[in-house]
Parts: sequence; C-alpha cells; structure tokens
Amino acid sequence: MSIALLEGKQNPIREKAPHSIGKEEKAAVLAVMEDGELSHFLGRSGEMFLGGKRVKELERQVREYFGVAHAVSFNSGSTALQAAVAALGIGPGDEVITSPFTMSATASAILLNNALPVFADISPDTYCIDPVSIEKNITPRTKAILAVNLFGASADYEKIKDIAQRHKLKIIEDNAQSIGAAYQGRYTGTIGDIGVCSFNFHKIIHSGEGGILVTNNDRYAFRAQLVRNHGEVVIDDLIAQGAYEPVVGSNYRLSELHAAIAIEQFKKLERIIHERRQAAEYLTHCLKKFSWIVPYELEHDNAGVYYVYPFRILSGEIGIQRKTLARAMEAEGFPVGEGYQKPLYLLPLYQREKMFLNSQYPFMSLDYGHGVKYSKGLCPVAESMYEKDLVITTIFQPPNTLSDIDEFISVIKKIEEYREELREYEKKTAH
Ligand SMILES: *Cc1c(COP(=O)(O)O)cnc(C)c1O
Repeated sequence: MSIALLEGKQNPIREKAPHSIGKEEKAAVLAVMEDGELSHFLGRSGEMFLGGKRVKELERQVREYFGVAHAVSFNSGSTALQAAVAALGIGPGDEVITSPFTMSATASAILLNNALPVFADISPDTYCIDPVSIEKNITPRTKAILAVNLFGASADYEKIKDIAQRHKLKIIEDNAQSIGAAYQGRYTGTIGDIGVCSFNFHKIIHSGEGGILVTNNDRYAFRAQLVRNHGEVVIDDLIAQGAYEPVVGSNYRLSELHAAIAIEQFKKLERIIHERRQAAEYLTHCLKKFSWIVPYELEHDNAGVYYVYPFRILSGEIGIQRKTLARAMEAEGFPVGEGYQKPLYLLPLYQREKMFLNSQYPFMSLDYGHGVKYSKGLCPVAESMYEKDLVITTIFQPPNTLSDIDEFISVIKKIEEYREELREYEKKTAH
C-alpha cells in the first residue's frame, strides 16, 4: 500500500455530479414550449399579477406539502429571502440577528432592505446559530432572527422561539438547504413566521434557479407578492379600496418553464431525501470508527435531509492539520471541502462597511447610534470551523453508491495509517 500525496502522485478525481432531471421534467418543459406562454406574469393588478398556471400549481403543491396557508414562488431563494425581510416591514434602523456561517445571500437579504445584519455565533454540534449567542446580541433595534437551517438540518427552534417570544421578535427561516427536513416532527420552514426554500441547481431539488416563500400570515404573503412583481403599481387600486401598503417591488418572478420543472422535482422530493438519508447515515456509521473525527450526528428530533455532509477533524488527536488531510484526500482522487464559508462579516462588504460607492449607509448613519461590530474574533466557533476544523464531503450523494463511500473511508484509513509520514511531510512543507 502507498499514499499518493507522499509519492507525488495524483489519482483521477472521483466526482460524480448529481443529476436528478429525468423524462418527466423534459416533458413538462416541452408542454410549456408548446403552449407558448413562457410566463403569465404582468406587473399590474388583475388576473396576471400572480402568474400563470404552473406557477400557481407549484404554489398549491408546496402549500399542501408543508400544510401552510401561503406559498409565494420567486426566481431564486435569494430574492425570496429579500422579500421575506421586506414582508415583515423591516428597514432602516432595524437589526436582524443571523448566522455568519451561511451563504452570503442570507445576510444580503437584510442589507438590501437597508437594515443591518448582526452576527451571532454557531453551535459546534449543528453548525446552526447558537441561541445563547442570539440572546447576547439583542438590542432595542432587533426586529427579527433570521435562522439558517444549515446542511439540511434544523436550527434549535425550541430555544429560538422562546427567545423570540420573550423579546417580541419575528423569525425567518432560511431553509434553502433543508427542504423536507423536520424538527420535532414539523417541517423546517414552517416553524418561524416565514420560511424560504431554494430551487437553485445545487439544492436538494432544483429547477436550475428558483425559490419559494411559505407563511401562514396573510399580510406577509401579500407583501411578498408585492415585492415579487412591481407591487407599487398595484397600490393605486388598493388606495381606491382605502388601503395602502408601503412597498417597492421588482421582478422576482418565476417563469412557467422553471415552475414546470420544479413541480416535477417536487414529486421526487421524498425519494431523493430517502436516498440521501440512507447514504449519509451509512457514512456516519463508518466515520464513527475514527477517534479523531467527529461525524455529523443529529439529535433524534432533527430529521435532516443532508444537503452536504460536514464532519470535524480533531487535529490534536491525529497530529496533522486539516490542510494536509485535504491534500492527501485530493491526491487519492477524493477531494473534500475545507471549512465551508468564510464567516460573512470577514467579507470586504462588512470589513469596509460599504455597499454603495458614495455612502456608508446603512452601516453608518443616524439610524444606527451604537454601530454594529464586524471585527475578527466576533464568532469564534464559526471562525474555527472555517479556519481549521470543518471538512465537507458530497460522497454520499447519488449517483455515488455505498461502495464509493467505502472507498472514501479506505482513503481516510490510509491517512490514519500514514499519520507519522504525513506529519513529517507537513513539517517539511511548512513555511
Ligand atoms: C442557496 C442558498 C441561498 C440562496 O438561494 P438561491 O436560490 O441560490 O438564490 C440562501 N441561503 C442559503 C443557506 C443557501 O444555501
């Protein structure tokens, strides 16, 4: 036996791209093409304000699945998140507490409403926002908690809801990675005031691009519809009815083509989740044999759908750094991700506190007396995960099979066996 990294070899990369699009999606798209009506939205009040029959069918399907009163589709999860913040009436002078360990879209949704994201640290068990840290970050300006259901699992809503109730805060769930996951027997996305899912190509199910917002609140759903489709023009008719909703919208509409694909993908959701769960649980079972690895084990009431598979390495225990492990795995043909995302406040946007060319609004303005901090060291757990602890793999995702997982595990075993040699290699290559 030999180890590729130490021999200067590179084995072919063993990556099998997931591919869940089948004949059903193709037929659905063709049917839209034959209709010729690729979108049935119009930016004015009336029958076309809410889109066409596929958009409406998708929304019906999602309402039924989640058991919620409203589903509003969007052209992405990001635009749905932005609309969710707007739907709650959050704006300048407001703060929203969120996780820094997520895709940038989570926090940008807050900034795009001219409110400020306040970053709370994450829990080292779920990698989701830590309720203790949420509580420490509450100020008189805090209006909501935007919790992210990361990696296909759920944040700790028992504690988050308790905090929200005590401080009169709203809850938005960024459920982009966790469609179909359940927490204490309830679908994630339906636990907070508003939940958002994504149908982007990389998510559990997808339509290339797309997103959806779910809520039980009539007003939030209506405001989301206004944001989705140039809502300011609809207001004219509302004023005639004696009502006014302050809002400015845009074009965040989903096309009939994308809706048609999403409808078919949704029908496959349960099967896709089942396959992912089985494979991920097998991977957990295998990883448990290594004393220097912390597998991704969720509490029994947190039924994850495994967007990706995160695990931690205990460098002190194995005596090699994550970087060396990653180089060794890659050389064997099994690349892994190092650290997921850089904690968002370390991005130049937050470090420089600038989102416009000529203004530091909303970071610095009369609306924010005390200022919000984005300095390094703010969220030590998130920083440690990013810098040295966390490893991400997709080896459990179909079309990979259990035997691919076995091969992945045999590479990890090999790294364990060559730990002394890898330690020497690490010393030699350090500068
Ligand atoms: C993918 C993702 C989004 C954004 O969804 P898009 O559909 O890509 O815009 C937001 N939050 C998280 C956590 C995501 O993973």
